[in-house]
Amino acid sequence: MSILAQYTPIAGKDEIDQLYRLAEISKDKKVVMVNSTRDGGGVAEILNCLIPLLNELGIDCRWEVIEAEAPFFEITKSMHNAVQGKKINFSPEALDYYLEVNRKNAQNLDLDADVVIIHDPQPLALVSYAKTRGKWVWRCHIDSSKPELGLWKFFKGHLLNYDASIYSIAKFSRPLPHPQYLIPPSIDPLSDKNRDIGSSEVEEVLKKYGITADKPLIVQVSRFDKFKDPVGVIKAYRMVKKELDCRLVLAGGTASDDPEGAAVLQEVEKEAAGDPDIHVLCVEPGSNLEINALQRAADVIIQKSTKEGFGLVVTEAMYKGKPVVGGAVGGITIQIQNHHTGFLVYSPEGAAYRIRYLLNREKVRRRMGMAAREYVRSNFLITRHLRDYLALFCILDNIGESIIYV
Ligand code: UDP
Repeated sequence: MSILAQYTPIAGKDEIDQLYRLAEISKDKKVVMVNSTRDGGGVAEILNCLIPLLNELGIDCRWEVIEAEAPFFEITKSMHNAVQGKKINFSPEALDYYLEVNRKNAQNLDLDADVVIIHDPQPLALVSYAKTRGKWVWRCHIDSSKPELGLWKFFKGHLLNYDASIYSIAKFSRPLPHPQYLIPPSIDPLSDKNRDIGSSEVEEVLKKYGITADKPLIVQVSRFDKFKDPVGVIKAYRMVKKELDCRLVLAGGTASDDPEGAAVLQEVEKEAAGDPDIHVLCVEPGSNLEINALQRAADVIIQKSTKEGFGLVVTEAMYKGKPVVGGAVGGITIQIQNHHTGFLVYSPEGAAYRIRYLLNREKVRRRMGMAAREYVRSNFLITRHLRDYLALFCILDNIGESIIYV
């Protein structure tokens, strides 16, 4: 059976047939996706799934990863934070170094394709150094709605060389003289991260991490990153705990392009010290079944981000039929329909209030979880994502003025 056919029972036959028809238009087109890490974070997660499916549909899609040393990722992590609004000044030396790494990668990577899709700020400047015939598209996964303006001006110089750009939600786009498209991310319902697993597998993972299922479980799965607000999660948990005994799991790893993770983890461990009901778990990269099990073990999932690109962990949890309490930022706001597929919150106090509300109401948890699963099934599965990319490939041949949401 083809890989794609396996999605038919979940996405429906019409959806899969449509993918084959759309792919026919772009058959044998050469596409290259470029990002800065093969594991860790949502982008790598999506590319791992999307590329084999595009290949199966007859699109010649490859994945290139830029090569750089640790100082480059220190700079690009600060750039990531600055694009999301943090006031940071970049020295001319830092900007030159960033450009130099991009220039070298432009020479070393195979960027020969009809469509070159550059993910996020790290490889953004490749466009200015590469000599290729293709259409260049910048795929921005982060919240670029209120960037630090000095850095944005620097990036804009390079963005002018792109033919189009893509954002996860409309609010993230900025004035640019090329077409901008909306393509929300997606999850793979058949991956180890998301496929149905049995309760014995869930129990095994809980046992491995020494978590007893004797109290309601609140879970946040995230890189240890300030914008994911793990300390705010602990605050919310403490407020809940005053009235209702519960456990908190903060599970996360680090990404090879994120040098700040270790420091944030240390801060979280300090904050959690002395409370045996807070489990701070360092999960190895690729532990997809474990993440799956932890999300399924939860009574309530929290994702208390204060800035967020899309928040794939929210999608993953919703697809598992879990009620999610999420920070009202970025892509979380297009996933959680407040009071219906979850709760949007603005503070640790708000999070605590909603967690307590849910933990006290099993029926509401179940109803919300079912609505959440269906919402993800119809909007945020990999099959919809494939359709958007296939539509994009058609449009790029004939760039117009429109913004699409397929
Ligand atoms: N993830 C993981 N291990 C971890 C933490 C996160 O596999 O320790 C995965 C998570 O399940 C999700 C992705 O990494 O698929 C994170 O995507 P999201 O959009 O939530 O956040 P990002 O890290 O990209 O900011």
